[in-house]
Amino acid sequence: MTETINRPDVAAPSGTSDPSGRAQRWFDQLNAALRARDAETAAGLFETRSFWRDLVSLTWNMATVENPDGVADMLRHAVSTTAPGGFRLAEPAEDDGDVVTAWFTFETAAGRGKGLARLRGQGDELRCWTMMTALQELRGHEEPRGTRRPKGAEHGINPDRQTWSERREQERRELGESQQPYVLVVGGGQGGIALGARLRQLGVPSLVVDKHARPGDQWRSRYKSLCLHDPVWYDHLPYLKFPDNWPVFAPKDKIADWLEAYTSIMEVPWWGGTEVRDAAFDEAEGRWTVQAVRDGRAVTLRPTQLVLATGMSGKPNVPEIPGMEVFAGEQQHSSEHPGPDAYAGKRVVVIGSNNSAFDICGALWETGADVTMVQRSSTHIVKSDSLMEIGLGDLYSERALAAGVTTEKADLIFASIPYRIMHEFQIPLYDRIREKDRDFYQRLEAAGFQLDFGEDGSGLFMKYLRRASGYYIDVGAAELVADGKVGLAHGEVSHLTEDSVVLADGTALPADLIVYATGYGSMNGWAADLISPEVADRVGKCWGLGSDTAKDPGPWEGEQRNMWKPTAQEALWFHGGNLHQSRHYSLYLALQLKARYEQIDTPVYGQAEVHHTG
Ligand SMILES: Cc1cc2nc3c(=O)[nH]c(=O)nc-3n(C[C@H](O)[C@H](O)[C@H](O)COP(=O)(O)OP(=O)(O)OC[C@H]3O[C@@H](n4cnc5c(N)ncnc54)[C@H](O)[C@@H]3O)c2cc1C
Repeated sequence: MTETINRPDVAAPSGTSDPSGRAQRWFDQLNAALRARDAETAAGLFETRSFWRDLVSLTWNMATVENPDGVADMLRHAVSTTAPGGFRLAEPAEDDGDVVTAWFTFETAAGRGKGLARLRGQGDELRCWTMMTALQELRGHEEPRGTRRPKGAEHGINPDRQTWSERREQERRELGESQQPYVLVVGGGQGGIALGARLRQLGVPSLVVDKHARPGDQWRSRYKSLCLHDPVWYDHLPYLKFPDNWPVFAPKDKIADWLEAYTSIMEVPWWGGTEVRDAAFDEAEGRWTVQAVRDGRAVTLRPTQLVLATGMSGKPNVPEIPGMEVFAGEQQHSSEHPGPDAYAGKRVVVIGSNNSAFDICGALWETGADVTMVQRSSTHIVKSDSLMEIGLGDLYSERALAAGVTTEKADLIFASIPYRIMHEFQIPLYDRIREKDRDFYQRLEAAGFQLDFGEDGSGLFMKYLRRASGYYIDVGAAELVADGKVGLAHGEVSHLTEDSVVLADGTALPADLIVYATGYGSMNGWAADLISPEVADRVGKCWGLGSDTAKDPGPWEGEQRNMWKPTAQEALWFHGGNLHQSRHYSLYLALQLKARYEQIDTPVYGQAEVHHTG
């Protein structure tokens, strides 16, 4: 990381056609305005319709401000608190004829950051369209890596010498017993583990706890045919990338083993078999009291910061349907489905038509079950190959790597597109996908499947960001529906009888097994369970952007609700998401926690209002 933070040699500015020179002159103007603490002049360097997204560098928050007014408001706060400055090109800028794209570095009172700006205009009259600033390290608390890596061996004579494993053993004995962690991370899935690795690296005493016995058990316990839906280039964890022989789509048990090995290699303090039952914040003391049960023994933990990394796919949504108690067969939520082996020759009804529903239907059909899918609302389907080629290929692929787009760079490019206009970048990609796979979509519709591409045609990522549901990345099972091999029915379930699922229109579907692929509940439900309903309401809903589309009610939030940033409850944080989000955003959450641990002043700009409690 440090190699791009130190100023590399940048081509000297030449004529006005030189994008680097033009971009650096724009940064010089910004620097001059910031030095003069003149937020208005700095904001005047922005287009009328413009965006500045900050990841904890100027705002100690995840915040996106819009237009010169918004920029001025944010900078008035920043010039007197975080003191940003020293903006300079990090590599030659690029001009595509319309937009000058400029990678840059900058400094604040507390640390160093990098960012990406998109500038437009004629000659030297550039104005900024989008700006993204991201803190990378805290001054004086740089990570011990690269040239700062630890020595490991202790040369010389020391009669009290402790080996690495003795130190680790001592830490294991003391942590959570005589030594309290500064940060307690509840939930040791991929999110908790990635954050644990970052906190370890930053020297913040932390503990990650999980109900499961071993890291990776979250994946081990899922249905047996499951492979990651996202390709390997998108899935790396922080610090330690998958080797280059890693499969494109890792089978679930392989990813589980990787998570377990990673936890050990990165020395993440991880307690298995530990269930957190209750947490209460003591305002006076500024600490949490957390009650947990570890291997059957009651334990009390007293962390200063509490992170819920309990999973967005953790709280199963099971609908309440009249007759559930009279149905004589088996009923399972998709998270409990063991896989198809026991169901050859059985009649299975799968309620739902998204990722899990398709995966489960496909595996059951392969095993010889008689499967019917019940579609309750339209679904966005994108073929995995098309998603990889058109949706992800420029950022996360061998092609991207060959073009110099590393994972870190790809993450920052992705983060640099303001949520407000991200759909505008996505719609053309999904138009291409729709065209490329036209026959496939026609066959699905001919089979009666209700398709959508999101309310504005922006496809998978926007659906994920807005509501985290309503889509399937097709790895083959859609063909079974198109061919009629997996039956398709529509509508809400009215009730169950002893041996069938009856739909609202009276259709009866005979069943030996019902699988509820009906998704998962909101993450702040965990706060209600573990802390209190009052705290859950105070912090409000997690995830979603306020796009005013289905399942993502407005008003517009600008950022994902509550994720990785200060919440309305002091010292309570939320972390999680897919592997890409866990990797990228764990850095900013870890830096916020580190700053608090080091008692660095962290004045928060733009604390989000809470609009939705559930
Ligand atoms: C079928 C399916 C396929 C998916 N495919 C992909 C994919 O291809 N790529 C991708 O990136 N994501 C994928 N996801 C999503 C991904 O699995 C989740 O987003 C991911 O699990 C989130 O990781 P996490 O660490 O936030 O949560 P989880 O993995 O759910 O981990 C949360 C942990 O919290 C623990 N926990 C909860 N409550 C407590 C408590 N009170 N005390 C102690 N521990 C507790 C749980 O035991 C659990 O281990 C998929 C999800 C599903 C369901």
